[in-house]
Amino acid sequence: MSEPLHSIAPPRSTSFFGLTRPELADRLVALGEPRYRADQLFAWVYARGQRSPERMTDLPATLRQRLTESFDFTVPAPTQTLGTPRGDTHKFVLTLADGARVECVSMRTERRLTFCLSSQVGCALKCAFCATGLMGLERNLRSEEIAAQVLVMGDFHGWSDDRFNIVFMGMGEPLANYDAVLCAIRILHDERGLNMGARRITVSTSGLVPQVARLAGEGLAVGLAVSLHATTDEVRSRLIPVNKRWPIRVLLDAARDYGHTTGRRVTLEYTLIAGVNDTDDDADRLSAYARELPSKINVIPYNPVPGMSWRRPSHEEVERFAHRLYPRAPAVTVRRTLGGEIWAACGQLGGLSPGA
Ligand code: SAH
Ligand code: SF4
Repeated sequence: MSEPLHSIAPPRSTSFFGLTRPELADRLVALGEPRYRADQLFAWVYARGQRSPERMTDLPATLRQRLTESFDFTVPAPTQTLGTPRGDTHKFVLTLADGARVECVSMRTERRLTFCLSSQVGCALKCAFCATGLMGLERNLRSEEIAAQVLVMGDFHGWSDDRFNIVFMGMGEPLANYDAVLCAIRILHDERGLNMGARRITVSTSGLVPQVARLAGEGLAVGLAVSLHATTDEVRSRLIPVNKRWPIRVLLDAARDYGHTTGRRVTLEYTLIAGVNDTDDDADRLSAYARELPSKINVIPYNPVPGMSWRRPSHEEVERFAHRLYPRAPAVTVRRTLGGEIWAACGQLGGLSPGA
């Protein structure tokens, strides 16, 4: 019996946004085009923001036609956009081709615009305090689905501020989806395209040590943020199960190597949870760890997650902890929490937010 026609899916063309420039050049060569066309295309699409091949006026008509046939130039439109009343933070919900939903966030402070990217739908690592962890892992994002988040937020903000930074601090563990994340970073970093310098890109990890070492060897020197969140293995393993595999000492050694190889200070992220990791002894151990490597400490007051009983410390408690760190640690910042009203703050992205 023959299959009804409508059950045959059309061949899915390759997304333009998932290809690095060398990968694109290979594809173009296979289509009989010279490699340098990839340079021209990167400039059109990323540097000049033109995503319709028909309008790339200096390309031959036959090539423009071939591009339209061979590549998919569509960027997912956000199915929902939420803004805080002050307008400093926006959360974008993207519905992907298979119906999976992923969230990304833009944050504007006086000094800069930051795009917070997701790397996975959900997360397998199940940290005890994180909304995304509650979802489990639905799937990895593809490189084009990661790069597209930047395009969506850049379009929203009108590309007026081309000094935006990106941080992989949305849904998922970026180093558990290593190849797609690296591919997206190379696309965003490309000098012919958006030309984002490595200083403007930060990858946050819960502590996947082998991948930290691998990232150090990529020759990219992107910023690394390590989610430390505790100063003893007993507490850290309770909060971040992956600590049982790579405990604090092993993680700090990898972070130190990363700092030395790349010449960058590693950020030690420390989410402060009342009554769990906020004693004076914690502050003293944390500052001692920070002195072992080129680092800065970023204290993040815990953002509440519905259904979880962890408590955010009071403003005074956060200040007390930070003041204990200041004289002892090389550099300390306390993260201002943006986006709590729209469940867009750190660790609040995922299936439980009202926008999802
Ligand atoms: N998976 C990566 C990056 C995404 S989470 C990682 O774990 O590092 C970005 C940061 O927010 C991490 O430091 C994470 O530990 C922290 N975080 C998660 N849930 C949080 C919450 N509810 N409040 C404050 N920070 C949280
Ligand atoms: Fe995953 Fe990071 Fe959340 Fe842990 S904190 S569950 S690694 S997204």
